[in-house]
Amino acid sequence: MILDCAIIGGGPAGLTAGLYTTRGGLENVVMFEKGMPGGQITQSSEIENYPGVTGEISGMDLMMPWPEQCQKFGLKHEMLEVQKVTKDGDIFKIHKEDGSISEAYSVIVCTGSSPKKAGFAGEDELFGKGVSTCATCDGFFYKGKEVAVIGGGDTALEEALYLAKICTKVYLIHRRDKFRAAPNTIERVKKAQNIELVLNAVPDEVYGDAMGVAGIKVKTDSGEIRDIAVPGIFVFVGNNINNQTLMQEDGSFLCDMNQYGEVLVDLKMRTSTAGLFSAGDMRVDAPKQVVSAAGDGAVAALSAIAYVDEHLN
Ligand code: FAD
Ligand code: NAP
Repeated sequence: MILDCAIIGGGPAGLTAGLYTTRGGLENVVMFEKGMPGGQITQSSEIENYPGVTGEISGMDLMMPWPEQCQKFGLKHEMLEVQKVTKDGDIFKIHKEDGSISEAYSVIVCTGSSPKKAGFAGEDELFGKGVSTCATCDGFFYKGKEVAVIGGGDTALEEALYLAKICTKVYLIHRRDKFRAAPNTIERVKKAQNIELVLNAVPDEVYGDAMGVAGIKVKTDSGEIRDIAVPGIFVFVGNNINNQTLMQEDGSFLCDMNQYGEVLVDLKMRTSTAGLFSAGDMRVDAPKQVVSAAGDGAVAALSAIAYVDEHLN
């Protein structure tokens, strides 16, 4: 049996795509997810920017009802890692970790992205307890407090500017004395009254206790250790896009990407390959938020329905 639609990844984008494709009339839709559905937000202990959800809620609790809602409309779920998606004529082939292959007329790929780690002591242990990789998500928790940002690229500088509007002071810690960000962004950072540049400094250790982060120790070029007592540490040292499933035998990709490995899509989440759609954190210019990933998933699903209708009926 050839699936109407295969959805790769069961985070907010994939689950919303599952809801809209099945409820919108596609039959035989399977969502392939290598772990539990819910996506990376299930790692978050608190989310307070999902519209309409007030009060304290964990990422796990937020995502809990999503699979059940999709299954009600007929979404099927295979708990398997997809290794590769290829296209043979009009038919996509979904190569799965157990060696089997599913076939589909359309594919929505939404496998997300993962922030890189800087590799200092305490980074993993205190992740979610003061160490964060998302200023939009967690910046508000430090309103009126001081925070540190690690990194010297566009993301670190833009997020430092964002945090400087919420926090009293931002220490921008970078391992060199030159930034690799846009000149205009560097100028804005240098002009910001409450951003202190801590340059030629490498994070050595983030410390704290069960209550959370208490500060960060950085080692400067001269070997001196500086102790910066802040409750929030934001790490922006690059991002890996989970685009491996789109890589073909010869090393090319099934659709066009930019130089950062983000999938190029139009406003309908269509990629450069007919019948292939992408949604959520892995697509170009993604805001990397649950609400936008879910929105993308809905758009991709509507496009997949239109594609299948046009090509098969
Ligand atoms: P993901 O959620 O990353 O889902 C991708 C899914 O694809 C995963 O479940 C993964 O297992 C699966 N997958 C990957 N590769 C394969 C494969 N080959 N085969 C099968 N399955 C595969 N956003 C907010 O809006 N507010 C917040 O407060 C907030 N806080 C956050 C806190 C933390 C700690 C983290 C990590 C993220 C936070 N985010 C927050 C960001 C939010 O989680 C993401 O923007 C959102 O989850 C992206 O959804 P997605 O569906 O694109 O990708
Ligand atoms: P990036 O450009 O790769 O920058 C990562 C930064 O982290 C670099 O300054 C790097 O230092 C530092 N770093 C890396 N590993 C580290 C470690 N282990 N410890 C301490 N510091 C470490 O990543 P990004 O800022 O996320 O940007 C990714 C791409 O997206 C870039 O090409 C960027 O231009 C683009 N982007 C564009 C915009 C925009 O146009 N508005 C916004 C965001 C991102 P070094 O400099 O010493 O290598």
